[in-house]
Amino acid sequence: MTPTTLPFSQFVVKVHSRCDLACDHCYVYEHADTSWRRRPKVIGGDVLNAVAGRIGEHAAAHRLSAVRVVLHGGEPLLAGPDVLRHAAEALRAALPPGCALDLRIHTNGVQLSHAFCALFAELDVKVGISLDGDRAANDRHRRFADGRSSHPQVLRAVGLLNEPEYRHLFAGLLCTVDIENDPVAVYRALAELRPPAVDFLLPHATWEQPPKRLPGGGDAPYADWLLAVHRLWEADGRPFAVRTFESVHRTLRGLSSLTESLGLEPSDLAVLETDGTFEQADSLKTAYDGAPATGMNVFAHSLDDLARHPGIAARQSGPAGLSAACRACPVVRSCGGGLYAHRYRADTGFDNPSVYCGDLMTLINGIAGSGGSPSEPTTVPAQGGEPQLSAALAPAQLDELARGYGSADTVAALGRSQLALTRAMLAAAWDASGQGRAEAWELLSELDGVAPAAVDAVLAHPYARAWAARRLAGDLAVGLGPLAALAAAAAVRAGRGDAVAVPVRDGWLHLPTLGRVAVPDGEAVVTGRADGFEVRAADGSVRTALDQPLRRVRLAGGWTVALEDVDPLRDSHDHPVAERLPEAELLGWTGALREAWELLGRDLPGYAEGIRAGLGTVTPLRPGPAGRDVSSAARQAYGAVGIARPATAPTLALLLAHEFQHVKLGAVLDLFDLHDRADDRLYFAPWRPDPRPLEGLLQGTYAHLAVTEYWGTRTAAYDGLAGEAAGRARAQFALWRRYTAEAVERLAESGALTGLGVRFAEGMRESVEPWLAVPLPAAAERDAERVRRERDAGGRLRSVEV
Ligand code: SF4
Repeated sequence: MTPTTLPFSQFVVKVHSRCDLACDHCYVYEHADTSWRRRPKVIGGDVLNAVAGRIGEHAAAHRLSAVRVVLHGGEPLLAGPDVLRHAAEALRAALPPGCALDLRIHTNGVQLSHAFCALFAELDVKVGISLDGDRAANDRHRRFADGRSSHPQVLRAVGLLNEPEYRHLFAGLLCTVDIENDPVAVYRALAELRPPAVDFLLPHATWEQPPKRLPGGGDAPYADWLLAVHRLWEADGRPFAVRTFESVHRTLRGLSSLTESLGLEPSDLAVLETDGTFEQADSLKTAYDGAPATGMNVFAHSLDDLARHPGIAARQSGPAGLSAACRACPVVRSCGGGLYAHRYRADTGFDNPSVYCGDLMTLINGIAGSGGSPSEPTTVPAQGGEPQLSAALAPAQLDELARGYGSADTVAALGRSQLALTRAMLAAAWDASGQGRAEAWELLSELDGVAPAAVDAVLAHPYARAWAARRLAGDLAVGLGPLAALAAAAAVRAGRGDAVAVPVRDGWLHLPTLGRVAVPDGEAVVTGRADGFEVRAADGSVRTALDQPLRRVRLAGGWTVALEDVDPLRDSHDHPVAERLPEAELLGWTGALREAWELLGRDLPGYAEGIRAGLGTVTPLRPGPAGRDVSSAARQAYGAVGIARPATAPTLALLLAHEFQHVKLGAVLDLFDLHDRADDRLYFAPWRPDPRPLEGLLQGTYAHLAVTEYWGTRTAAYDGLAGEAAGRARAQFALWRRYTAEAVERLAESGALTGLGVRFAEGMRESVEPWLAVPLPAAAERDAERVRRERDAGGRLRSVEV
């Protein structure tokens, strides 16, 4: 059966429905909903087994690669070790092979002991602790029923989790904001405890029960409070994760939010009570008595049944589920209308902006304006007409890309957004290296101020980002040398006399965008001069010229493409790269590229302009087996395509167009979520025998828009002519237009596209539909059908055949 609902991948399981504290801001016991009074205190074994079974069944049906389960309460430690062990073991046993369990417990910490920690270490349960800050802040709400402070017990619990044997269990702190607390004192108190993460939570409130305001406290006191914390967090170098801040940073760059309380991602959270009833998000308890109820329970209903509940569906419908005010709001992409519960008003239900609307807008604009976001904000007020989606790309430009094309201006805009991303990734990779201040980084920073064109030129080099991506993915073997090499290349381009040391490996000093110099291994010092450069090698020898310059091919119309065969990081494509090209091969490439460029201008004029604006590098790959054409774009190397030189120029033209589609779409996906990233189902592309993730189908479809148009143009050129070439063009056109149209529909029917993704698919459909109406001889359709049957019989169809 094909699942038709968005899957849940996060589950809150209530294992105990009472608490040993009496916090007056608690949404479970102190707000409108009183259902807890009617529930068993401790979850039963039969309920636990049924819960585990339902989650396992759901994970299998939706082929989930991971689920997160949070054991919650009340106070979950009150359930006792036996119940917690039962929960962990039942959940692990029920999940299908290949589905990982991220199991957590959220506790007030009062009962946490060595024995519990040892149990959690054995069962791999991460622990999150609620703590509102320093003692004064914590005691404002988090007290025992008799008024005693819980602060000492919570600090003891955090101390336990900071012991070396349990530190890996420490998931973080959950801090509920109170604007009467001093944000500086709260931040410092939390930071002192060295948490890996802190969640700052807005106190639950609705339009019926608005949040506390202080006399003279300003229009957006919660934003002011959080922005004060944000400034300290940035000044300290972001010492721990803060989902609220990181979500704003991410959504400003077009990425997904990390928390349900911000952003437009559909909710994927289900809540199970101690009696086995399903509820909607716990925060709804704040709205009205019975608000979270679904009328469903784990014994009678599956999680797919729950997903069809209208209340859940409303939280999964993205922008369509928001109020009109939110849909028109300039920061909606980052805000998403805030937490669902905070929108409640008695007369209009949830069809309202958040009761924290002013705070959310001030917070998002404050973070965007702080320079904390590594790229320009992606959602900005409209200049009139349609709201702008992104500072990087106008709506009309996104629509143009969706149809497969991309003018020089549009592709240049993608290039600028990629450059901003590369800068951010380099900074993050450098931060993560823990090197503090160092010569190469300082030089790059200094040159950025005085010679920005030199820095931009080297950072726009496709494999600059590839280095950062490898470092951020944990590949430390790549070393810090490439960053020093980037600084050296920028120094050479700036020509101001700056010097920087660069480690040399394998006898070559590589200067990105320039070429390489043969010097002994060790540390070489590169000095950029107005009239060239000087390399002083580890053995004292001095070189002033490149032994292997990066070679560029000049193409008609005066633009050049680099043939990258010297950068050690060019090995970022799916296929092995060629070694330095010998002269004869270089000549072969030069002729083939010139001819291919002419063919692109003739056969794909709607694509050629964008290719010229964005394709800076062709990286030669080794030939494929048995002469198979090989080409590849790398998501982390914008502006480059890898290709093994094919036998003919027309094939090269088609490979360039095909791969540059992947380059463009990769840049679009870095700006916008076009699909649900949590959707881990696999989809068949019509031209492949193996199923792929949705993004693979999207990429393949987008690339074949260009392929189809190429064959459509060739077919038109052969109009009225007979012969083998004409017949093949018609058959290829018949095949690829059908496949591409099918793939567009498959994407549209996936149910996993975001609103923007649906719009993007409509753009692709707009290009495909006219091709389907082009009349073709029956023989062409028969040939296409024959190829299709051969593919269905098990052969892999090459996507590019000339
Ligand atoms: S800031 Fe206000 S209007 Fe804008 S999306 Fe958020 S809640 Fe809605």
